[in-house]
Amino acid sequence: LAEGLQALAQEPAITQDGCEVPVYANGGLLADIAPSIQSGADGIGLYRTEVPFMIRDRFPGEEEQSEIYREALMSFNPRPVTLRTLDVGGDKALPYFPVVEDNPFLGWRGIRITLDHPEIFLTQLRAMLRASQGLTNLHILFPMISSLGELKDALQLLQRARDELLDEQHVIPLPKVGVMVEVPSAVYLAEALARRVDFLSVGTNDLVQYLLAVDRNNARVADLYNALHPAVLHALAHAARGAHQAGKPISVCGEMAADPASVILLLGMEIDALSVNVASLSRVKWVIRSFSRARARELLTQCMTMEDPAAIRALLNNALVQAG
Ligand code: PEP
Ligand code: MG
Repeated sequence: LAEGLQALAQEPAITQDGCEVPVYANGGLLADIAPSIQSGADGIGLYRTEVPFMIRDRFPGEEEQSEIYREALMSFNPRPVTLRTLDVGGDKALPYFPVVEDNPFLGWRGIRITLDHPEIFLTQLRAMLRASQGLTNLHILFPMISSLGELKDALQLLQRARDELLDEQHVIPLPKVGVMVEVPSAVYLAEALARRVDFLSVGTNDLVQYLLAVDRNNARVADLYNALHPAVLHALAHAARGAHQAGKPISVCGEMAADPASVILLLGMEIDALSVNVASLSRVKWVIRSFSRARARELLTQCMTMEDPAAIRALLNNALVQAG
């Protein structure tokens, strides 16, 4: 089986009824790039830029960041590389930027920090834009957006970074811009958010945590953390409809996208692309190639009427076994 999956790596991820659902890799280090290419990734769907920040003892400067981003962009160009802006706070701390709070997951996290520190944000955005000179594949993704106001402010700073660079005589292509749907409010704003950007990307790791009020890292409540919970499935379907009503694509980049049973449901919801850890790439491609969208839609419809996540998983596992 392992050999079969290996051979599958370079095959396109197309359903049995001909829908292409690209499978991208998640990464955060330049060391992740070569394995992603070898594993047949269609691009990078989530580059966690906080990782290079975490392994330093100070904020990396514009030049230093730009070199890292350029290497990531060049290795996949013209295939997309999605650079997420700094997402610290919550469970991710920078040793040189301590944030101490009672409720870190409900506190100063992700875009909230970078909007409060435009100098950090502008440096990063300038570095990303400069890295994209002569290339066509830069996608910028904003984490932890919970309101339209935050998106407006983030877009304004992005515009400012680009204007500065144009004034400095750089030739900067227009990047594609996306918003992470990982806070429940963003699910209900999906259509409005999507109208203002090029794509949405669902972060199920945080979305499940916030929807179910279950800490994603607390072993004591781990059995309550379940991406197949009916509320999660309804939220995802709602977000997908919102994005498509706005005429924009929506992908999933949380761990749920690496779970074969969940992939069937995501196909049924017409999610446009998946982004997964490198180790899961060929398995996810196998699921996509083994199902038609029509069959996935049928299974989704059935699962949407069910109440018990364990029964939903059993039904999907059965479908996977039947598929081979
Ligand atoms: C997520 O929340 O699902 C996600 C992809 O981001 P992270 O795991 O980095 O919070
Ligand atoms: Mg997240």
